[in-house]
Formats: sequence, C-alpha cells, structure tokens
Amino acid sequence: MWQVLGQPKIITLLEHGIQRGQLSHAYLFVGPPHVGKLTLAINFAQAVNCESQDVPCQQCPSCRRIAAAKHADVQIMDLVSPEAKGIGIDQIRDMQMASHLPPYEGKRKVFILDKVDLLSHEAANCLLKTLEEPPPNVHLVLLTARESRLLPTVLSRCQRVELHPLPTSVVGDILTKHHNISHDKASLLSRLSAGCLGWALLAKDDNRILDERQQSIVTFIDLSSANLQQRLAYAADLAAQFSKGRDRAAEVLSSWLQWWRDLLLIKGGNRQSITNIDCQTALSSQAEGLTIRQISEFIRHLQAASKQLEQNVNARLAFEVLMLRMP
Ligand SMILES: [Zn+2]
Repeated sequence: MWQVLGQPKIITLLEHGIQRGQLSHAYLFVGPPHVGKLTLAINFAQAVNCESQDVPCQQCPSCRRIAAAKHADVQIMDLVSPEAKGIGIDQIRDMQMASHLPPYEGKRKVFILDKVDLLSHEAANCLLKTLEEPPPNVHLVLLTARESRLLPTVLSRCQRVELHPLPTSVVGDILTKHHNISHDKASLLSRLSAGCLGWALLAKDDNRILDERQQSIVTFIDLSSANLQQRLAYAADLAAQFSKGRDRAAEVLSSWLQWWRDLLLIKGGNRQSITNIDCQTALSSQAEGLTIRQISEFIRHLQAASKQLEQNVNARLAFEVLMLRMP
C-alpha cells in the first residue's frame, strides 16, 4: 500500500514503470515542504524491493526494514540533519562508491537525497557523474521544494515528478476522521497547512509550531503600529534567524504572506476563505486602516522578498526594504 495520499497519477506512473520494467534511473520529486515527497520516495524504495505481488505491501521483511531505515540498500541522505557531514562533496562521493557495489539484501539500491537544492555547486557537479552514467539496479530519488536552485544539467537528467498539495477540506477530513481532532482545530490546521498534510500532522503533535505562529501573529500586529526604528530592529532579528537556518525565516515570511492575503480577502468581503480563522477580530481591525491597493502592493513586496531570498541576496537588506514598504 502506498502511504502517500492524494497523488493517484504519480502512483499510477510509478506502478506502470515497475510492472513494465521501465523505471528511470533518477527521479526528481518536486513539491512544497511536507507535501509527502519523502513518504513517496520511501514507498518507491519499498515497491522496487518488495517481496509480495501487491507492491509495496508494507508487510514483507524488505518493506518493514526500509520503513525502519534498516535496509542496507536504501539510504536516505538528509543534507541538513545535524548528523550529516556537511552539504558536500564527501557525501556524494560516498554515495557513488556505494552505488557501484551490487545490492546487498534487496533487488535494487535506492539513494534518496532530501533537500538536494542545498548541495554545493561542486557537489552537484559530482552528482552529475552518477546521473550521466548510472550503475545498473540503482535509482536516485532527489527531493526538493526549491527546484529553481538546481543546476539545469541535473534537472535534465531526472524524470520530474511534481506533488501537489491536497485540497484543505481533504486534510481537514483526514484529521477529524483518522486522528480524532476537533472540527475547529482540524479546520485551522488544514487551512494553515495549505494542503500539505505532513505539516498538519506535525503541528497536531508539536504545540511549539502553533505557539511560534501565535508569536509571529502578535509581531505582525505590533509591527503595523511600530515606528521605523522598531521595524528595522525586527528586520535585523529576521536576518539573524535567516543566517542560522533558512527554514525558520522562510516560515515566518510564509505566515506573513498568509496574514496579508487574509487582510485582502477580508477587505474584499471573502471572509470564509481566510487562513487565520482564529484571528478574525485582529484581521478586521487591521484591514480597516488599509486600502486594497496598499495591501496588494505589500503582498507583491512579500512575494518578491521570498524570491530574492531563494537567490541568495543580502537577507538583511531584503528584510529592511520590506519594513520600509510596509504600509
Ligand atoms: Zn513488501
């Protein structure tokens, strides 16, 4: 059983490839964080090594060992985990050496490279060698939420598979029916998840995620009446977070964008479509003092800043410009 939900076309594509013996040596799974890329990659590794007819069965020793990350022929390389040696060429060289050995306990070797966009230029060029001359019975599965950061030469050698977020109503149904969550909380989590079920499942178990969101919202509200000095201090703080790890600052920007989209929806009288359904009073109050044009322009600035940060611009400068343009 494939455990990734809401991606029937992709599962059909991979199943046909397995049945006909026409699998690609390299796949690139593209999609936003927590949409299910890693789950799909693990299911793929199980499917090509499964010992049953109905692959991946999740029951045979091979499927179980892969799920427990104990299978000798399936390796997940998380390029940002603290245990990783670095985002570097050493990991790719180790992978290349291992790829030339025959499978040890399974039928095929599968190397899953999570957040492959973090590879250095040098490491990505090294990876190209394996993509150009793949050993037999080896599959590389590259995962990314930021496809634009990959080398065109890497992109052109992989079969691209794009995972789309689920409708938020489907995420809400899964949370209420399978995880015993109240309707109100499921409704909030599903909207905040933007259809990425993995995020909703993480947030239901880890209260810190919603606490951090709450802190961000308090800051957004405070910033609307803050003076320039306070806004620039916040820009410096965000830039400092960004320098320690992109993910947290990217999450703040994403929450910020959701907040301003909600302001636009409220201004346009479309209250039922907002994301932050638990903050309607604060949103209405802030929206009162803004025009639709002011909100739309700031949303464009937020989108531009997100794009610039992906392209390695000076983060502090990008955040300061945002603060200067905030109405
Ligand atoms: Zn199996």
